[in-house]
Amino acid sequence: MLISVSKAEKLIYEALPVPKLTAIPLVEANDTVLAADIKSERDYPPFDRITKDGIAIASASFTGKEQHMDLSGYAQAGKPQAVLKDGGTAIEVATGAPLPQGTDAVIPYEEIEKQAGSVVLNTQRVRVGQHIHPQASDCKEGTVLIKKGAIIGSPEIAILGSNGIHTVSVYAKPRIAIITTGDELVATDAKIEPHQLRRSNDVMLLAALQGHGFSNVLCSHVPDDAAQLHAEFVKVLKVSDVVLISGGVSKGIYDLIPDVLKKLAVKNIFHGVCQRPGKPMWFGKKKSALVFGLPGNPVSALTCTLRYVVPALKKMSGYVEPLKDYKTLGEAVDVNVPFTVFLPVKTKLDNGAVSVPNNGSGDFTSLVDSSGFIELPSETHHFYAGERYPFFPWRTPCQL
Ligand code: AMP
Ligand code: MG
Repeated sequence: MLISVSKAEKLIYEALPVPKLTAIPLVEANDTVLAADIKSERDYPPFDRITKDGIAIASASFTGKEQHMDLSGYAQAGKPQAVLKDGGTAIEVATGAPLPQGTDAVIPYEEIEKQAGSVVLNTQRVRVGQHIHPQASDCKEGTVLIKKGAIIGSPEIAILGSNGIHTVSVYAKPRIAIITTGDELVATDAKIEPHQLRRSNDVMLLAALQGHGFSNVLCSHVPDDAAQLHAEFVKVLKVSDVVLISGGVSKGIYDLIPDVLKKLAVKNIFHGVCQRPGKPMWFGKKKSALVFGLPGNPVSALTCTLRYVVPALKKMSGYVEPLKDYKTLGEAVDVNVPFTVFLPVKTKLDNGAVSVPNNGSGDFTSLVDSSGFIELPSETHHFYAGERYPFFPWRTPCQL
């Protein structure tokens, strides 16, 4: 019996194992989810930090434009705090150095004229604290800077690095296996016979997963042979959190996957979803390992991966709610089947998302002209321009 898309999504989410904790090097933490609050190691800035190259003075010694002041030292970044011994003089300072003791204002080089051993000031006024980033003005020691559950990107990496977090506590990304099946399929670089096809789902799904930050992926190809499929599944189930199988889940004589998985005691949770493309999709679980049986037609395999697998992987990796994007329909669409339709669309047009003609779920050539697919729910048959529906891009932002 076919189940609805929302039921399939619910059953998948219910089957997800709880996210696992791990500790990884900071340089590998981009695009992971933080598993513990991060508190500031110390005040930031940890001292009154100079923000302009120039001189530091005690503002009370400023008498006006054209004032001459002797230079009595240099405060260099990376050196301990300098001290202004004679209040009537100035200390030359570098951006990033601690403000010298006894000074309270910085005058940049643009507002002075430097001479041998002295400077002439070329400014009308000096404000206490000018060009100084005060100690603890960004945050105090012990403040929570990033909360558990945050997605780590460039700003978070900077904060972690500056607070001495060399190893980061995050949720582990799943170990994934992609197994393509099909006697008719040969490798990209193989000699090809007229009756054969080159396989592309392995590299396509790998790219889709990598694009979403999942790169711990093993790929293998197995012919439509029950014994060989059985042996490969035994192997990958031992070392994978998620297994994606491409092909072999429909009704043909050589669609062997459901039976082979049954013999391996992989529990079937659903087989068949009221959706187009992707109707024969199979989903199950063995212990905590999830198994997605994806229809082999390339458009179906990619659509099911983006619609179900990627959000599941994100939840397993600690994402609270994977974001859904929406697009506005730029044309009316009529659907004459009682299925949820995943419609490939162009979106880079002013008037909204417009469908791209294709020859069905085997026609991946046509995808090149589309940006992704929108999800048109099964309850409705007439969709109008201006309505908004969930959108799933084929390509990730860095590929746009
Ligand atoms: P199946 O789901 O195994 O019945 O496959 C459906 C269609 O998708 C068949 O025409 C297959 O040749 C094609 N197909 C299956 N796997 C791949 C693959 N890895 N790359 C390209 N086409 C595939
Ligand atoms: Mg097949």
